[in-house]
Amino acid sequence: MARQYDLLVIGGGSGGLAAAQRAAEYGAKVAVFEPNRLGGTCVNVGCVPKKVMWYAADLAHDLELAADYGFRVDRKGHDWPALKQRRDAYVARLNAIYERNLNNKDITWVEAAATFSAPRQLVAGGEAFTAPHIIVATGGQPTLPALPGAELGITSDGFFELAERPDRVLVVGSGYVAVELAGVLRGLGAEVSLMMRYERPLRSFDDMLSKQVMAALEYQGVQAITHAVPNAVTQEEDGLTVATADGRRHAGFDCLLWAIGRSPNSRGLGLEQAGIAMDDRGFVPTDLWQNTNVEGVYAIGDVTGRDALTPVAIAAGRRLADRVFDDQSDRRLAYEWIPTVIFTHPPTGTVGLTEAAARQQYGDAVKIYESSFVSMYYALGETKSTTHMKLVTAGSEERVVGCHLIGDGSDEMLQGFAVAIRMGATKKDFDDTVAIHPTSAEELVTMR
Ligand SMILES: Cc1cc2nc3c(=O)[nH]c(=O)nc-3n(C[C@H](O)[C@H](O)[C@H](O)COP(=O)(O)OP(=O)(O)OC[C@H]3O[C@@H](n4cnc5c(N)ncnc54)[C@H](O)[C@@H]3O)c2cc1C
Repeated sequence: MARQYDLLVIGGGSGGLAAAQRAAEYGAKVAVFEPNRLGGTCVNVGCVPKKVMWYAADLAHDLELAADYGFRVDRKGHDWPALKQRRDAYVARLNAIYERNLNNKDITWVEAAATFSAPRQLVAGGEAFTAPHIIVATGGQPTLPALPGAELGITSDGFFELAERPDRVLVVGSGYVAVELAGVLRGLGAEVSLMMRYERPLRSFDDMLSKQVMAALEYQGVQAITHAVPNAVTQEEDGLTVATADGRRHAGFDCLLWAIGRSPNSRGLGLEQAGIAMDDRGFVPTDLWQNTNVEGVYAIGDVTGRDALTPVAIAAGRRLADRVFDDQSDRRLAYEWIPTVIFTHPPTGTVGLTEAAARQQYGDAVKIYESSFVSMYYALGETKSTTHMKLVTAGSEERVVGCHLIGDGSDEMLQGFAVAIRMGATKKDFDDTVAIHPTSAEELVTMR
C-alpha cells in the first residue's frame, strides 16, 4: 500500500523546502524527499558557503586598505583550513535548523531519492508514496565538459571541498559562478587565470557591467585568457595543461575549475513513466503557474530552467502552495524585475533591462544616465576601485527600466531600488528623492 499524503515534494533545496513548509502551514500533510543534506545547492554548495568565501576575500582587500587609515597591520597569511572548518560548521548548523523546521511543521523527511512510478505516485527507499499534488524541485548540478581529461578538473562543488588553497588556478567559464570563484581565489592569494570563450564574462548582462567586471577582475590581478575553447586536459610534471581548439596550450596549474554552466537533475527521475515533458536540455517546462503538462504535477526552481536563483525558487514554491492549499487562485510568481547580485570584488548588481534590450523594446525612447567615480573609501591611499552606475529609462516619462551597478556596497544598495523600479519609478521620482550623504548610493538619485 502506498503511503498517502496531500503533497509530495521531490528535493529538499530552496524551492522544495519553501513549498513544503508553506503547504504544511495551511494544514497539508507533506513529505519531502531528499537523499542529501537539507538545504540543497544554496546552503551546501552555493550561495551560503560562496558568500562566506566572498566575505573572506573582501576582508583581505580591506586589510590592504587598513594602512591608509592608520592601522599597523602585520599580515601573517591566511589559514584556509581554519576558514573551511568554520564555514562547514556554519553550514552544518543551517542543515540542523532546516531539519528542526521540518519536524516543527510535522513534515516527513524521506532521506532517499524519489522516482515517479505513475503520475501521482513516487517510489523512494523501497516504499511507495502517493498524493494528489507532487512538486518537482530537484535543482541542478554543475556541468563537466565532454573532453579528454575533463575529470582532472573540479566544479563549484569541488571548490567547496578544497582542503587547502590551490596556488595556481585556471577557472574556465564566463558566467557568474566563474567570475565569483575566480575573484575569491585571487582575493585569498592564488594566482588565477580565467579562460573564456569570448572576450568578456557575463555577456548577457548590460555591456557596461560586462566590461567593468572584466576590468575589476584584471585590477584584482586575474589573468584573462580570451577566445579560448578547451579541447583536452593533461597532467604534466609542472601541473595541469589545458589545450585549446586554436592550438594554444596553457600549462602549470594545480587546480582546474570548470564553471561552464549547470544541468537540471531530471534524468533518472522517472518523468517519462509519468508522462511529464522535458525540453531537449532536460529542463521541466511549466506554465506561468508552475504547472507541468501533467495535472497535479508542478515544477519549481532551477529544474525549470528559469532564473536560477534561490529567492526565485523560494518565491515560486511559496506562491504555488498559496494557490494550491489556500485557494489564492491567482497567486503566482511574476518572472519580471528580478534583481540579482554577482559577488565580484567589488560587487555587481542588476535589475531590469539592459540598454540593448531596452533599445530593442523602446527604440529611440530610451535615455541612459551614467556615473563613474571613486568612492570616498579609497580617498586616502593608492588603491582605487571605480564605481560605475547606469540607469536605463524609457518613454517620455523616463520610467526607470534598468539599473546596473558595480562598486562597493552595490550588493546592499540594489534591493531598495528594485522595489522602486518594480513599482514603476521614473527618473523624476529618483531626482525628487533626497540623497543620503556621503554615500555611493546618493549618485543614483543625483545623476544628470
Ligand atoms: C556556486 C553557486 C553559487 C550560487 N550563488 C547564489 C547566490 O548568491 N544567490 C542566489 O540567489 N543563488 C545562487 N546560486 C543558485 C542557487 O543555489 C539555486 O538557484 C537554488 O539552490 C535553486 O534551488 P532549487 O530548490 O531549485 O534546487 P536545489 O537547491 O539545487 O535543491 C534541489 C535538491 O533536490 C535534490 N534531489 C535531486 N534529485 C532528487 C531526487 N530524485 N529525489 C530527491 N531529491 C532529489 C538534490 O539533492 C537537492 O538537494 C548559486 C549556485 C551555485 C552553484
